[in-house]
Amino acid sequence: MRVSVQACIEGEGERPSRIITVGVIERDDEFAPSSGLGLFMSETKALLKQLQTVFVDEQVDRFFDVSAHCLSCQTPLGIKDTKRLVYRTVFGKASLRSSLYYSVCSTCGFCSGDKSTVSPLSHALAERVHPQWTWLQCRYASVMSYRLAQIYLRDAFAGGTELPSSSVKANVRAVGERLEKEAQRAKWAAAKATAPRNRPALTGLPVSLQIDAGYIKATRPLEGNRWIPVVVSKIFRPATPHTHAHAYASGPDPRQGLRQQAFLQSIGIGPEVPVTVLCDGGDDIGFACKLPWATARVLDWFHIGMKFEHLLMSLQGLQGADPYAKDDMRRCVIRAKWLLWHGQQGRCLERLEALRRDTGWAGPRNPSGRLVRYLRGCSKYLVNYQQRRAQGLPISSAGAESAVDYVVGQRMKRNGHMRWTREGANALLQVRCAALNGHDIGNFKRWYPPNGGVVREVAAATTS
Ligand SMILES: [Zn+2]
Repeated sequence: MRVSVQACIEGEGERPSRIITVGVIERDDEFAPSSGLGLFMSETKALLKQLQTVFVDEQVDRFFDVSAHCLSCQTPLGIKDTKRLVYRTVFGKASLRSSLYYSVCSTCGFCSGDKSTVSPLSHALAERVHPQWTWLQCRYASVMSYRLAQIYLRDAFAGGTELPSSSVKANVRAVGERLEKEAQRAKWAAAKATAPRNRPALTGLPVSLQIDAGYIKATRPLEGNRWIPVVVSKIFRPATPHTHAHAYASGPDPRQGLRQQAFLQSIGIGPEVPVTVLCDGGDDIGFACKLPWATARVLDWFHIGMKFEHLLMSLQGLQGADPYAKDDMRRCVIRAKWLLWHGQQGRCLERLEALRRDTGWAGPRNPSGRLVRYLRGCSKYLVNYQQRRAQGLPISSAGAESAVDYVVGQRMKRNGHMRWTREGANALLQVRCAALNGHDIGNFKRWYPPNGGVVREVAAATTS
């Protein structure tokens, strides 16, 4: 059996129609084909690559027809030289005919460029990679390691056979840096827009923004630190089940709150929506929690609960106290915790101070001192948790903690062997968050607006 695949380039104006053979597939006529029926992947890859060559050659021809003309009198420009230009696509490398033209017109003498020669194609193609190919690389590298992404792309697409994992890394990094630049621009725009006088009246249900930090290993110590902090925030809207995550490792930046505000705006949460920030009060996210338009800030209840648990555990190991005294102290700590739950932080702290007298734990360097210092440091963010809970409002930033695991841990800490530079990690985080939030396709369509590109369904060859 022999099947030949042909492409018909339909005529237009003075151009006649042409039929080009794209490829021929041959099979032995077997009684029972042991290797399966239908096409092999290698055949489809080769066919698509060939079809792509036909298509691209035609596109380039038409491009030169419209672009290689004198800008004044429309006379075709004289060709000086023709080179090949490599263009990478999903279907493999395409070699494009790129002609170099004299910019001075032979008829009217007008110069269509600032140099003596002009190369319209290399000028028009600033990037030598098809956007969809870059998008696919980003898509896979955001959920698996660069090496695994390269293996997957190699197996699935013809373009992947000539794609080293270093190229995947470089392409993803370029996209990540582009996203980071946009985030920075949005941050400065938010700085202008968030002047207090611009604030509209608040309406609607409050949105909660949970912020937490994770750490990834650095390739080399950065300012004496082996770990790079990554700030992750997660947004919960009462009406929509879909959440959005945002992460960055841009270093110590006092204007991170603006970045968070800009991110809220980018997903349609405007200044009229009340925003509650929930965090664990850590120093690493201090700047990130300072949103210019946040209406409330709440200290994560689970962190508080955990710190009380630590205190209870250290009480058990307290030396020089009889079991009855220990039991009293235990009850005192639990009562202090429930006072805090009901929003009575003053009385809670009084109890804890009394406990310090009973245990002899003076100064800040002991379990009780640490808890008191933590609560005093975050006293502004302590609320009536019982009331919030009753109103159905969030009291914990556990969502952000799981986002740290999901966004950072699952891609950037696997086996504990991955090491990062801050810039590389930050670029990948931008790409990963865009993919996880489902914004990646929209971004590429915004950067490379599609024109036309309609595939008309052709009725399948009728078999009667
Ligand atoms: Zn001319």
